[in-house]
Amino acid sequence: MTATVRLYHDDPLLLDFTATVIGHGALNGAPSVLLDRSAFYPESGGQMADRGRLGGAAIADVQVDDDGQVHHVLEGGALLDVGASVVGGVDRGRRRVHMALHTGQHMLSRALTDLAFAATVSSRLGETTCTIDVDRETLDERLVAESEALVNAVIDDDAPIRAFFPTPAELASLPLRRAPKVTENIRVVAIGDLDVSPCGGTHCTRTAQVGLVRVLGIERYKGKARVTFSAGPRARRELWDEAGVLRDLGRAFTCGPRDVPTAVEKLRRELGSARESLGDARGRLADAAAAELAAAAANDPDHRAIAVLDDLGVEILRRVAGRITALPEATAFLASRVEGGLAVMISRGNASKIDCGSFLKRAAAAAKGRGGGRPEHAEGRLPADADWPTLVTQLLES
Ligand SMILES: [Zn+2]
Repeated sequence: MTATVRLYHDDPLLLDFTATVIGHGALNGAPSVLLDRSAFYPESGGQMADRGRLGGAAIADVQVDDDGQVHHVLEGGALLDVGASVVGGVDRGRRRVHMALHTGQHMLSRALTDLAFAATVSSRLGETTCTIDVDRETLDERLVAESEALVNAVIDDDAPIRAFFPTPAELASLPLRRAPKVTENIRVVAIGDLDVSPCGGTHCTRTAQVGLVRVLGIERYKGKARVTFSAGPRARRELWDEAGVLRDLGRAFTCGPRDVPTAVEKLRRELGSARESLGDARGRLADAAAAELAAAAANDPDHRAIAVLDDLGVEILRRVAGRITALPEATAFLASRVEGGLAVMISRGNASKIDCGSFLKRAAAAAKGRGGGRPEHAEGRLPADADWPTLVTQLLES
């Protein structure tokens, strides 16, 4: 069987076509339809496959085999009669997104080569993220920004883009950015005066169709630098979404989008001072509780203080325990509600004989919590509904 004629090679804007079913194939276990010609782009070269409809059925996947046959997998594994003339329609929105991303990738790869001295080693145009990996470990942010600016300037120039199959002699004279991956039927894409690269993908026919190219980030990845970018309708969608978030934030802060950073900074400062005041108040509460508990321990025949303190946290609990155990005979059995449970602590003065660590271990086992420590001091965490005073009293009496 001869290779499928790729209609998108000559015209990436041709979306509706008729073709003849010339056979059936299989793709990863799924039955596929083979056509004499097709406008559907099969997944290859880092670009995802087209979607759309063929013979009335939705396209689930498009792939190409080693013989150049394009396999069309239809939803539900449907097949079309061999010999039938069928109508195909490529999903326009998805194709336009891919055209812009792919063209944007060529342009950005060239700009990174020329301005950031970083050659592209691989690129990926994903469902949500597009990346270019270059042959350097790091990239200068300023040079990447200049590369992005150059690409957008060429987009504004609305330069023509030409995809063609040069003769071997012609090919030898072209200033290709990278060597072709195939040895025959080499297709070349020339973008204005900016870039000439071998590629079989679908590209825009003029640079203005790309709309914009936007670099989203630079990171290290497996010993290379990776540039994440976006272009065309996808970049526009992302910008609108982000602008929408900023506008909503502005409404929440009753300010304009540009004043949101100032509003957030003010909120951050206020939160900081509120936290500080809360800490001070908690400290005073803890000191008052500590004084009360120390007095109770002094009056108790066994010099014990058993208490659950509200939301004080482990740090302040230690401070309270320290105040109580200033009395050498005292033992403090303290708990405080914290996020996700009850923080518990047992601490003793120099003259107390209770083994805090082993006591807390028994308490934790009884309450299905965890905890332990030294004879002088132990800490743990019990379930939020544990009844600490009852638990301690029962264990002391047993
Ligand atoms: Zn390409």
